[in-house]
Amino acid sequence: MNCPACRNKLYKKDINLGSDTPASINVCYNCGGMWLMYSEISKIMKLKIFPETSIPIIELQNGISLIEEGTRECPICSSVLNVMQRHGVNVDTCEQCKAVWFDGGELKRIFELSHVPMPGGSIIQAILA
Ligand SMILES: [Zn+2]
Ligand SMILES: [Zn+2]
Repeated sequence: MNCPACRNKLYKKDINLGSDTPASINVCYNCGGMWLMYSEISKIMKLKIFPETSIPIIELQNGISLIEEGTRECPICSSVLNVMQRHGVNVDTCEQCKAVWFDGGELKRIFELSHVPMPGGSIIQAILA
């Protein structure tokens, strides 16, 4: 699988979210983005604190040019990812494959945003609904 944002290779990383909750994410070590299935996102969002020891936070480095949002393709089925926006954050989703692309550092920011009450719910609640 290749990164939808910079086309480098995505690496599968198995993580343990505590209390024997295994999960896996796909990481791009070039741009820092991550590709997660809805099922894995909901496991992570159930936690109270972001699992920094399991999930590497790789902020997007300057100088890496990314494919524009709205034209990125799903690494699984190649359809154009749908850009979902809410409360000033946006993510790329594939509803067919039930997966979300988070740019570098975005997963943690969105995790934190989804843990404060917001009108209409967070972007993650909207996606998983
Ligand atoms: Zn990338
Ligand atoms: Zn897809």
